[in-house]
Amino acid sequence: SDELKFITGALALSEKNLSQIMTAMDDVFGLYPDELLDFELMRRIYESGYTRIPVFQRPVDRHTGRPLYSAIDPSRRIGITRNRSRNVSNPDDDASSDTTPSKYGGTVALPLQVLGLLSTKDLILVDPEDAMPVEQLLAHCGRDLLTVWFDTPVNTMLTDFLVGNSHLAFVQRVNTEDPSTDPFYELIGIVTLEDVLEELIQSE
Ligand code: ATP
Ligand code: ATP
Repeated sequence: SDELKFITGALALSEKNLSQIMTAMDDVFGLYPDELLDFELMRRIYESGYTRIPVFQRPVDRHTGRPLYSAIDPSRRIGITRNRSRNVSNPDDDASSDTTPSKYGGTVALPLQVLGLLSTKDLILVDPEDAMPVEQLLAHCGRDLLTVWFDTPVNTMLTDFLVGNSHLAFVQRVNTEDPSTDPFYELIGIVTLEDVLEELIQSE
């Protein structure tokens, strides 16, 4: 349509890619599959205000393959200020901050994997008394996952969102920072239709 041509044209002018408009992984509110949907967690989800909630695999120890339970749950990240730089030690950080996603690719944890996407609509029939594990809900209600490259132009993402049925995409790159390990896929953020539209309005 003419409208679509107009807005994709406007976005082309901005020449931005997704890594410049995404919500970085550190700021993503998500869940782990073994968390229980009790009152406390349901309240945290409600208070986050988000409609789309990614479910991530727990980071695991590279050597033993065991889950790292000390990692900060992404559903507890709201309001937490994290130390983004790799080698700076911050006395306010507790030991678990070594496994926040920004540090994945170090020697400790495997890169973050996304297992699924929940909608808060999926919670309507959940009884918090049952304290159902997140993975059980995911098995019934998981949404399609859309993964895109960090350097995808914003206007390409707009068309993909409009023709597809998902309004949230996971942004990935290949991490080659550590010469002692093989390059690996890494999720670095999420982008939603709202992020793309906001960019469009600014670029007009
Ligand atoms: P909706 O408006 O459809 O209810 P929403 O308010 O949950 O959805 P969006 O409007 O799509 O989310 O996005 C608003 C902003 O929040 C965007 O910058 C987006 O990247 C960000 N965002 C969306 N979901 C999450 C999430 N689970 N964690 C962190 N940020 C998110
Ligand atoms: P979301 O995509 O954020 O989950 P949704 O699927 O409930 O929301 P929209 O995507 O906003 O709804 O709208 C999709 C279409 O369904 C639109 O044509 C809208 O007018 C229509 N629609 C939305 N809510 C209702 C409703 N309660 N009853 C009838 N039609 C509705």
